[in-house]
Amino acid sequence: MKLYSTNNKNLNISFKEAVFTSFPSDKGLYMPLQIPKLSDLFIRHITEYSFQEMALEIAHSFIGEDIPKKDLERIINETISFDAPLVLLEDNLAVLELFHGPSLAFKDFGARFMSRLMAYLSDKNDKMLDILVATSGDTGGAVALGFLGVEGTRVTILYPKGKISEIQKKQLTTNGQNVRALEVNGTFDDCQALVKMAFNDPELNSKLRLTSANSINISRLLPQTFYYLYAYAQAVKKNKKNIVFVVPSGNFGNIGAGLLAYKAGLPVKHFVAATNVNDTVPVYLQKGLYEPKPSVQTLSNAMDVGNPSNWVRITDLFNENLDSLRNFISAYSFTDSETMSGIKELYDTYNYIACPHTSVAYLAAKKYNQPEDFTLFLSTAHPCKFMDVYPENLKNKISIPEQVKQLDYKKGSAIPLENNFSDLKTFLMNK
Ligand SMILES: *Cc1c(COP(=O)(O)O)cnc(C)c1O
Repeated sequence: MKLYSTNNKNLNISFKEAVFTSFPSDKGLYMPLQIPKLSDLFIRHITEYSFQEMALEIAHSFIGEDIPKKDLERIINETISFDAPLVLLEDNLAVLELFHGPSLAFKDFGARFMSRLMAYLSDKNDKMLDILVATSGDTGGAVALGFLGVEGTRVTILYPKGKISEIQKKQLTTNGQNVRALEVNGTFDDCQALVKMAFNDPELNSKLRLTSANSINISRLLPQTFYYLYAYAQAVKKNKKNIVFVVPSGNFGNIGAGLLAYKAGLPVKHFVAATNVNDTVPVYLQKGLYEPKPSVQTLSNAMDVGNPSNWVRITDLFNENLDSLRNFISAYSFTDSETMSGIKELYDTYNYIACPHTSVAYLAAKKYNQPEDFTLFLSTAHPCKFMDVYPENLKNKISIPEQVKQLDYKKGSAIPLENNFSDLKTFLMNK
C-alpha cells in the first residue's frame, strides 16, 4: 500500500512510514494511492463470511503485500474480538452497536488495530515505542486498552484532573502493565499542549521513540471499514435492500471509513452525517462554504469539533466536487434539547436506551427517512459512559457491562503532574 498526501498528490509514501508518522509534514492527510475493488463474487457471498474473514478481505485488499495475509489475519483476530450486532427497531430502521469492545466505544476498533500494527511493523532492534496521548476522556481509554500488554510499547496518558467521568478515569488509571496515567493539574488543552511540546523537544526525541497514536492515523481508519461490511452483511441476511448509513460525526473519521468501504465497492445507497450544533459540515453541504469555527460544548461531547480533521479526506474521495458530495451525503445537526428528546423517544417507542451521540444519529435517520430504504444508524458508545445525561427513570435501567463492573474492584493509580513541560520531560526521561 502506498499513500499520498491530500496536499501533495505526488507524494509516494510506504504504509509503514504513514503508520508511524500519522500525518505528512505538509499538514495534509495520508490517502491510499489506489482504492482496491472488492470482487463481485465476495460481495455476492458476503453473508457466508465471518466478521473476521470479511475484515481480512478488505484489509488485505488495501494493505496488499506490506503484511503477509496470515500475519494480518492474526492481527485482525486480535482486533475483532467482540461483536457489532445490528439491532432491528422497525422493518426499515436498525441500530448498529459498536460499543461492545473493552472501552465501550467504537474507537476500540481503530485503537486495537493500530496498536497491534505498530508492534508488528516495529523492527526487532527498534527502541520501545512510546505512545503519548492527551485525552478529554474517550480516546485515552480506547488507546490505553488497545496497547495494554502489547509487547515493545508503552503508553503515557495525560488527562485533565477533575474533568473526566468516573468511568473514564477508572479506564485510564486501572491498567498497570505498560500503561501509565498522568493526572494534569490543568485543562484538556493544557494536556494537548504538553504532548505537543514533547513531540517538538529534540532531546526527548533522540532518547525516546515517541509516537502520537493520532486519530487521523491511516491505521485507525482502515479497521473502521470492517464494521460497514459486517453491517451490510447482517442487513442482507435480513433481506434488506437500499442500505443507508447514518453516522454520528465529530472528526468525520468514522463516516470517512464508511465512504472508503463504499469506494471499494460496498453497495451503499446513501450516507447521512449527523452532528450536534458543531455543524461546520452540514452548513458546508448546504451553502457550499467551509467555515471552521471554535467548538461548542454539548451533551454529545465526543463530537464537539468545529474543524473536523478528516473532512479533507472525504472531499478528496469525491475529487472536491460539491455536487457529488451533496448527491451522496446528507448532513443534519441537532441541539442538546433535541438530543434529549431523541433519547426519550427511543426509549418510549422502542424500549432502547441510547447514548447522546447515538441519539443524534437516530434523529438524523428519522429526518432522512425514505420509506423504500433500510436506514441503519451507528451507535458509537454505551450509554453507561454518560450516566449524568439521563433522567432518574432511565438511569436505573441502564445495564452495566461486565467490563465496567470489574473496574469497581480495581484501584486506580495516577501520577500527579503540574501543568509544566519540564516536569513532564523529567518524568519521561527518567521513568
Ligand atoms: C469519537 C466519537 C464520535 C465521533 O467520531 P468521528 O470519527 O470523530 O466522527 C462519535 N461518538 C463517540 C462516542 C465517539 O467517541
